[in-house]
Amino acid sequence: MFYLPTKIVFKIEAVKAAAEQLRGFGKKPLIVTGARSAIASGAQQDVTALFEDYQVYAEIKENPELGSIMRGAEVFKQSGCDFVIGIGGGSPLDAAKAISVAAANQLDIDQLYSTQLFQKAYPIVAIPTTSGTGSEVTQFSVLSDERSGKKAGWGHPLAFPVLALIDPRYTLSLSKEVTQNTAIDALSHLLEGLYSANREPLCFPMIHKGIGLIVKNLPLALKDPGNLEARTALSQASIYGGMTISQSSTSLQHSIGYPLTSEFGVPHGLANGIVMKQIMKLYKPAVHELLDEAFGSFHFNMESFFSWLDDLNLNADVQITEEFISQRVPEVMSSRNMLNNPLEVSAEQIADIFMSLM
Ligand code: NAP
Ligand code: FE
Repeated sequence: MFYLPTKIVFKIEAVKAAAEQLRGFGKKPLIVTGARSAIASGAQQDVTALFEDYQVYAEIKENPELGSIMRGAEVFKQSGCDFVIGIGGGSPLDAAKAISVAAANQLDIDQLYSTQLFQKAYPIVAIPTTSGTGSEVTQFSVLSDERSGKKAGWGHPLAFPVLALIDPRYTLSLSKEVTQNTAIDALSHLLEGLYSANREPLCFPMIHKGIGLIVKNLPLALKDPGNLEARTALSQASIYGGMTISQSSTSLQHSIGYPLTSEFGVPHGLANGIVMKQIMKLYKPAVHELLDEAFGSFHFNMESFFSWLDDLNLNADVQITEEFISQRVPEVMSSRNMLNNPLEVSAEQIADIFMSLM
């Protein structure tokens, strides 16, 4: 089955092109964003030019915390907003989804993962300023519980944005680090479309194309951050990655990265990247034909892919201890993504991957 109810506008000046549709969602949007991205990318200016009245909530930090969602829902209600526009990387986009359902269903902080209570949502518009998470076309929201230090995602059909406006120019202001990390996140999503036990063959052509776009264009964007053609290709790959996980969800490749982010502050995409080879080797017996087909579509194979990855020099400062292993391996084992692995994965195998980072 393939279900994706988001209207996607992917072009230069996407916001302008969708002005009438945007205004159709209401009179006063809550713009949910982070400290810099909406301004630095130019997206906020493009959006606010279209509305007489709007409220900006720019309190979203990386790996958004539950408290910031609750405060955002309060601002939404108190300022009389009627829909939400998320502008930013995955963090503000995921926060925009959570704020919409929290406000619409009067959720309290302990109910932000209680998807069975989600009866309605205010319209959610997503305007990405990174090319990585694909959150603009997914039903997922990944949040961090500041009380437990645990990061986890939820998914609900009501959280699909009604409209995704992707203008690759908004990614021109990204640093090299964020460019690289977010592209690796998109790459993870595409690979997970092959790994997932719930893989959707309808997505395979997008997956093949998306992986090839990243392999070719990430080095170009890193060399010349102003290369709009390469930026456009990375945005396209990121949309494909989001469309893919919206159908088949993520796997251990993602859940093993969450503790690395919560415990050591490793950016999300990088956390996926430093375990990418280990996960591919682990899954290989179950998915080697699918991988051969994907890499072969752009004249690569697993070996050349690994040397491409090596050239990126992905590194993170993590101090894996016995305590980390004993606390975090059970957390990974109990994550919902584990149901998606293409073969059975043991706690020892997860511990081994963590220990390979020592
Ligand atoms: P992010 O956490 O949203 O942003 C990373 C950094 O980049 C922030 O400092 C941000 O600034 C900055 N930034 C963003 N766009 C910029 C721009 N155009 N110019 C300059 N700086 C910019 O990063 P992300 O990798 O896109 O999102 C990661 C989050 O998404 C994680 O929590 C991850 O778990 C989640 N995720 C969600 C899904 C999904 O399907 N929903 C999938 C994968 C990952 P600000 O301070 O202004 O924000
Ligand atoms: Fe991701």
